[in-house]
Amino acid sequence: MSFDAIKGQDRPVELLKDYIRQSSLGGGYLFVGPQGLGKRLIAVTLAKAVNCLNQTLDSCDTCASCAKIEAGQHPDVHMIEASGSEIKIEQIRELKKYISLKPYEGRTNVFIIDNAHNLNAESSNALLKILEEPPGNSLIILITDKTSLIFSTIVSRCKILKFSGLARLKLKAMLKKDYRINEQLAHFLAYFSEGRIGFALELKDKDILDKKNRIIDSFTQSQKSRMPNIALQNREEVKDQLNILATWFRDIYLIKTGMPYSEVINLDRKDDLLRLIHRFSFSELDRIFNLLSESVSYLDQNINVRLMLHNLGAQLWKA
Ligand SMILES: [Zn+2]
Repeated sequence: MSFDAIKGQDRPVELLKDYIRQSSLGGGYLFVGPQGLGKRLIAVTLAKAVNCLNQTLDSCDTCASCAKIEAGQHPDVHMIEASGSEIKIEQIRELKKYISLKPYEGRTNVFIIDNAHNLNAESSNALLKILEEPPGNSLIILITDKTSLIFSTIVSRCKILKFSGLARLKLKAMLKKDYRINEQLAHFLAYFSEGRIGFALELKDKDILDKKNRIIDSFTQSQKSRMPNIALQNREEVKDQLNILATWFRDIYLIKTGMPYSEVINLDRKDDLLRLIHRFSFSELDRIFNLLSESVSYLDQNINVRLMLHNLGAQLWKA
């Protein structure tokens, strides 16, 4: 994808294009912001742009160099990610070896360190030394949504590019216009993703409206058994489902407070939501909402999912 085709991140993209135009690109960059905003896509596009055979300011996406980078097969573009839970010292030693060499077939050695907060202490120190004197013809791009977990000495050695979500209405309009997504789906995607375009696009072809409605309905029907009817496939799946249930109660809450319907995530179920606003008091909704967010956070810990859901179900419908 070219810089011009990337939607919704005008500020960081313009900054990078400026750096390229002024030939002032080099050393360490830190891409910061929530997941699902296209940070990795933009890092890969930058790697293409600085090595493209047809252009000097952007990626053409058709030349041999751009194609190799897209396929993850370019000898001068390296993707570094945690093996297990950490980015280990061996991986940074490898980086050090390659960065000291001239690019093999392109113009610039590029190292993309995704989820850079996974650098352990040893690898952080090794990387810091490289960032103190980065060789010319090289770029090191660190990507994170958890800056506070990265050594401040590393952060201070990098140029920081901040990524943020779009206003929901703007994203909704963009999804309708640029991606030809219908009103109902565009609304849900823009509001559910909280303006994160990457996340919205990831969900757009996954029958997300049907899926989320099935989850909500199965939950409503499970009231008698006092246990949400949630399959236990895997923790991420359970987390997604609980997050969807949370949007449902959030919506009931918002409508009760008199917020305009346009702020509701499940706008496609407006009539059902309206029917429910008298059934729950604010304090009940508060309690349910807290229970759901608490359960989502438990899923990050080593907890028995079946037991957790059982407790959640039992508490949700406590009189
Ligand atoms: Zn190209």
